[in-house]
Amino acid sequence: MTERQKEVLAIIGSGPAAWTAAIYAARANLGPLVFEGEPVGTTIPGGQLMTTTEIENFPGFPSQITGPELMDRMRQQAIRFGTRVVSELVAEVSLGTHPFRLKPSYGPEVEALSVIVATGANAKWLEVPNELRLAQTGGGVSACAVCDGALPFYRSKVLAVIGGGDTAMEEALYLTKFAQQVVIVHRRDQFRASKVMANRVLGHPKIRVLWNRKVVEVLGYDVVTGIRLEDTVTGARSDLEIGGLFVAIGHEPNTGFLNGQVEITPHGYIKTAPWRTATSVPGVFAAGDVMDDYYRQAITSAGTGCMAALEAERWLAHRGLGESPILETAEAPVAASTSSNDP
Ligand code: FAD
Ligand code: NAP
Repeated sequence: MTERQKEVLAIIGSGPAAWTAAIYAARANLGPLVFEGEPVGTTIPGGQLMTTTEIENFPGFPSQITGPELMDRMRQQAIRFGTRVVSELVAEVSLGTHPFRLKPSYGPEVEALSVIVATGANAKWLEVPNELRLAQTGGGVSACAVCDGALPFYRSKVLAVIGGGDTAMEEALYLTKFAQQVVIVHRRDQFRASKVMANRVLGHPKIRVLWNRKVVEVLGYDVVTGIRLEDTVTGARSDLEIGGLFVAIGHEPNTGFLNGQVEITPHGYIKTAPWRTATSVPGVFAAGDVMDDYYRQAITSAGTGCMAALEAERWLAHRGLGESPILETAEAPVAASTSSNDP
C-alpha cells in the first residue's frame, strides 16, 4: 500500500479566505498545504475576484487594485511564509475518520490532521449571450451591487436588476443611491422576497418593476447598452435601454465535494458555530463565502480566514498536535449543534 502524504493543516480554496488562513497558519509554523483548485467553467484559482476589474473597498489600496492583482499578492504572501500549493481541486473528502483524507482530482490522496474549507460560492448567472464577457471585462455587468454600484461607471444611469428574491431587493435599494432609475426585471408576477423588503422596493420612487419578463440577451459590445426581454406570458420580445446590469438570482456555495459530511444550513452554506468557524466536524473549519450568506465580501472572507487559522491552531495545540496555542481566552459560545469543535 502506498504511504499517504501526511499534513498538519490542509486548506481547500484560493480566495481571500484561503490565502489569509494560509498566511496565519504558515506564520504559526503549521506548514499549511493549500489546494487552490483548477479552472472549471467560471470558477478559477484565485476565486471570484479573478473575474472583476477594480477593487475599491479592500483596505490598504487607496489608489485601487485589480481583483487578479490583489489575489496574486495574497498568494505570494502566503508562499513567502512557507505555504505549499497544489493546483488541483479536491474532488472528495473523507471526514468520518481522523486524520482526515483528501482526494485531489489527479494526485495522490493526502492525510490531514485539520482542514479549513474556503471554497467560496459562485454567483449564479443568467447564461445568456454577452453576459459573462461584459462581466469579465468591466463592461457594466455585475453580480454584486455593493462591490460595483459605487463605481463611476454606474452613476446616474438607468440600471437593471434581475431577480425577485431578497438579494435583488437589497441590490435595487442600494443602487438607488447612485442610479438615475433602477428597473427590476422579474420572471414572474410576484416577488419571492420577504414582504418587508418587497414593500420597500415597491414604494421607492426611483424603482420600477417589469413583471413576467426574462432576459434572453445582453446587448452591447464594449459596454452594456441594453437587454433583450421576453414576456414569459405572451412570448413577445422587447429591448430595454440600460447603462448597467446587476444579476441577483442567488449564489451557489461550493460544497458538493463534501458530500454531506459537514452540516449545511437550509440555504446550502456550511454551518458554523456563532462567531466562530468551527463546523459540525471537530478539526474541520470553514471560512469565507462558503459559510457566509450575508456579507459575501473579500474583507469579511479574509477575516473569517484569519479566524479559521487561529481556531485550527488552537484546536491542534490542545491535542498536542501543534505549537502552543495563541488564543487562550474566550471559549466559543455553545452552538446548538456545532459546539463539538471547542477544545
Ligand atoms: P472565493 O473567492 O469564492 O474563491 C474560492 C475558490 O476556491 C474558487 O474560486 C476555486 O478556485 C477554489 N475552489 C472551489 N472549490 C474547490 C475545491 N473543491 N478544491 C480546491 N479549490 C476549490 N468583494 C469585495 O469585497 N469587493 C469587491 O469589489 C468585490 N467585487 C466582486 C466582483 C464580482 C464580479 C464578484 C463575483 C464578487 C465580488 N466580490 C467583491 C465578492 C468577493 O469576490 C467574495 O466575497 C470573495 O471572493 C469570497 O472569497 P472566498 O475566499 O470565500 O472564496
Ligand atoms: P432566492 O431567494 O433563491 O431568489 C432568487 C431569485 O432569482 C428568485 O426570485 C428567482 O425567481 C430568480 N431567479 C433564479 N434563477 C433565475 C433565472 N435563471 N432567471 C431569472 N430569474 C431567476 O435568492 P436570494 O435572493 O439570493 O436569497 C437567498 C436567501 O438569502 C433567501 O432565503 C433570502 O431570504 C436570504 N436573503 C435575505 C436578505 C435579507 O433578509 N436582507 C438579503 C439577501 C438574501 P423565482 O422567484 O421565479 O424562482
